[in-house]
Amino acid sequence: MSDPWVRPGWYSETLYDAVSQTIRVDRVVHRDHTEHQDLVIFENAVYGRVLALDGIIQTTTADEFVYHEMIAHVPILAHGRVRRVLIIGGGDGGTLRRALMHPGVERATMVDIDRSVIDLSREYLPEISGQAFDDPRAEIVIADGARWVKDAEGDPERRYDVVIVDSTDPIGPGEVLFTEEFYGDCRALMTPGGVFANQAAVPMLQGEELTTITRRLRPHFADVWAYSAAVPAYYGGLMTFGWATDDTALRRTDADELARRAEAADLVARYYTPELHAGAFALPRYVRDLIAG
Ligand code: SAM
Repeated sequence: MSDPWVRPGWYSETLYDAVSQTIRVDRVVHRDHTEHQDLVIFENAVYGRVLALDGIIQTTTADEFVYHEMIAHVPILAHGRVRRVLIIGGGDGGTLRRALMHPGVERATMVDIDRSVIDLSREYLPEISGQAFDDPRAEIVIADGARWVKDAEGDPERRYDVVIVDSTDPIGPGEVLFTEEFYGDCRALMTPGGVFANQAAVPMLQGEELTTITRRLRPHFADVWAYSAAVPAYYGGLMTFGWATDDTALRRTDADELARRAEAADLVARYYTPELHAGAFALPRYVRDLIAG
């Protein structure tokens, strides 16, 4: 038995003060100080390859499908007529790949601050993005998402049916992607009835963060809510995705209609199902209370 007090060769996440998940490092694949973040990719027998930025697990090749399918397919299929998608962050390419699975999507613009995350994910985690970065419908921009969204305001070419914020946590470069001003700037780029979704906290451990996100979204959208999934590598149980739109009917789109849309798109998924999509908006009482603030 190894000593539970000291575990050399294990990676301990530094996201929370009082708890931490620890993952055995079977092999360090790559380590880098990028211009913006400390990046490590390592191998683990359970999670496959693990990408961490600034001490926080971002994605793993074993469970990425849960997070990426839910952050992309839910807003796109709920909307039903998506032509243009904007992704802020998402450097590993998993969200881009899922967005481009929808044949109606004519353009998916991805804005990430850190080119190294994209390059290193393509090199060491190629299964996450598949061919997405080479898809002619993909437009990749290297910029701070908050700055880019502000500058895009008023440009008729920069209008989106779905905006997905696939960001790091609100620490370091990702912090600007959690402000009320940023949410308002995203809203300004959206077509009528557009849907905004974001990476929005593990409620058991980041309850205040979920409350703050929904409070900051509320001034800009008629319907602000959250939907959930359990992503194993995001320690702490259920995680939530933020949901914001002016079309209050969209989150109640029923499973039969979602199934028709998924079938029309020929969607192949490992986690997503229309029933699960519809059910993901049913939240535990404590999460509803956090949203209510
Ligand atoms: N699924 C992940 C999670 O929930 O932890 C997010 C993964 S994705 C790798 C996060 C991306 O956000 C990174 O590629 C990072 O470079 C990008 N990012 C952080 N701050 C940003 C900013 N201000 N503008 C654009 N991209 C940003």
